[in-house]
Amino acid sequence: ERQKSIRNFCIIAHIDHGKSTLADRLIEKTGMLTEREMQDQVLDNMDIERERGITIKLQPVRLVYKRSDGNEYILNLIDTPGHVDFTYEVSRSLSACEGAILVIDATQGIEAQTLANTYLAMEHDLTLIPVINKIDLPSAQPDMVKEEIENVLGIDSSEAILASAKEGIGIDEILEAIVEKIPYPQGNEDAPLRALIFDSYYDNYKGAIAFVRVKEGVVKPGSKIRMMSTGKAFEVTEVGIFRPKAMPCDELRAGDVGYIAASIKNVSDTRVGDTITDDENPASEPLPGFRKIPPMVFSSIYPSDSSRYEDLKAALEKLQLNDASLVFEPDNSIALGFGFRCGFLGLLHMEIVQERLEREYDMDLITTAPSVVYKVTKTNGEVLYLDNPTNFPSPTEIEKMEEPIADATIMLPKEYVGPIMDLCQERRGTYKGMQYLDEKRVILEYELPLNEIIFDFFDALKSRSRGYASLDYELKGYKESSLVKLDILVNGEVVDALSLIVHKDKAYERARKIAVKLKESIPRQLFEIPIQAAIGSKIIARETVKALRKDVLAKCYGGDVSRKKKLLEKQKEGKKRMRKIGEVDIPQEAFMSVLKIG
Ligand code: GDP
Ligand code: MG
Repeated sequence: ERQKSIRNFCIIAHIDHGKSTLADRLIEKTGMLTEREMQDQVLDNMDIERERGITIKLQPVRLVYKRSDGNEYILNLIDTPGHVDFTYEVSRSLSACEGAILVIDATQGIEAQTLANTYLAMEHDLTLIPVINKIDLPSAQPDMVKEEIENVLGIDSSEAILASAKEGIGIDEILEAIVEKIPYPQGNEDAPLRALIFDSYYDNYKGAIAFVRVKEGVVKPGSKIRMMSTGKAFEVTEVGIFRPKAMPCDELRAGDVGYIAASIKNVSDTRVGDTITDDENPASEPLPGFRKIPPMVFSSIYPSDSSRYEDLKAALEKLQLNDASLVFEPDNSIALGFGFRCGFLGLLHMEIVQERLEREYDMDLITTAPSVVYKVTKTNGEVLYLDNPTNFPSPTEIEKMEEPIADATIMLPKEYVGPIMDLCQERRGTYKGMQYLDEKRVILEYELPLNEIIFDFFDALKSRSRGYASLDYELKGYKESSLVKLDILVNGEVVDALSLIVHKDKAYERARKIAVKLKESIPRQLFEIPIQAAIGSKIIARETVKALRKDVLAKCYGGDVSRKKKLLEKQKEGKKRMRKIGEVDIPQEAFMSVLKIG
């Protein structure tokens, strides 16, 4: 009975189509926050989310909706990220829900993540409510979007709600549709407890907090709970709901979305996807969990001031508490000293982790070029998964090299098909097919090597389609490939942190670019410095930093004492940001500039 007044749903969409803004309107309409508390994209509570205007983490919130007939409904809403790197967050959110609001921008139509997220929701058997958003804009084309909904998603578009999250149009209709169409939860409250962990974070006072959807049973403070994957037991200290801040309550029952705290010291004990049950009266079977998503992109992170290694370690550990998809292990480089090899879900995830380390933990970092995970079969039969070029075996030991391949879906207006097909060709793509979305837009399907996607593919796609193309990709498997290790030598010494694994057809071009960039960013010194790029012992590109002329140097030694002092100070500061490779001082910026081109 109680469950009949509960609706659990999430909001899914392509990035920027208006999920977070719609969540704002729903929060406002149900009067949960005062006007003073209300701000734009209120659920995006990380600084970095607010600044970039994107949602990175899923965010649940509980709303109370008073219907005109006087009945009250509890709506548990989960706002989700739209970017491809965070699909994992979306699929976890879906598991906590019976329905999803599918937001589509009326000026853009269906885009790559619209399709991907719709498929995910269908796999979870969720009831979908299509909402065509931004109808306030003059360029809105709701009829065309309706046609796409029918043709591409196979959903009856007569049900689609026309809305403007910005202007507050259609919000009542959406609330009604949520109550009318999304099934209420129907878990057995008397059965042994089964609660699905769909997220977790670490609170300094309360310990690891599990975000849960209770499917069956009841949990309250004092309950003894057990994690079904590890068998570890804990006593519940607090349960609560999201308003959107954590607010304690008496109990969570079947159908509820909320959180559980149990003085859990280790976030790894609140493993996302695990089932929490009652320790004394355990369920026999766990709920279906989640496929663990392995990191796809690796890079090494070094503190630019090498004395801050321990600080970096502490920062990574803290960050990982709230971002279980981040993995790292100690790494060291001759050029850069001690650091960490880190694994990420994708490039955006990598950027965000770096930015959070720099901002939230005040770190100054050097990051090596991102690499995917290659599969190497050695002549002795051993199979290696290689995420760090440093560990590249000697070519004579290699029997076979394979690289990860992704299935890519690109949606774009048809006038850009030519340039985008060229791009995919340049990136070693294999054409799989093309379909018309409607009379103006098409879907291109390609198989693309993941290492080409992470090498600024997204920017190239946007610039060649004037921003109109969208991309979704999914790892498909491994494919044999001719890969080589490209080494960069400065003054005859290999700079290990700059080594790269590249396709042999791309090696020359990349080598030249790197050599030129390095030449530009290494200051002249007292002697001539050769910069070389090599595959094994074969040099394939060379540039030279010419020696300083004596008279230029002499000038520096004139002038008054205080100026000289200042200069020395400055040099000392500068030295800290230099790395010595053999006899050569390489400024940090040089690493940065090279690593930018991959
Ligand atoms: P999300 O990435 O799906 O969460 O999208 P956001 O809610 O962050 O919105 C992306 C951008 O679209 C923001 O600049 C919003 O102000 C804007 N936006 C959202 N809904 C509407 C709408 O109904 N009309 C207009 N004109 N702009 C909107
Ligand atoms: Mg958002």
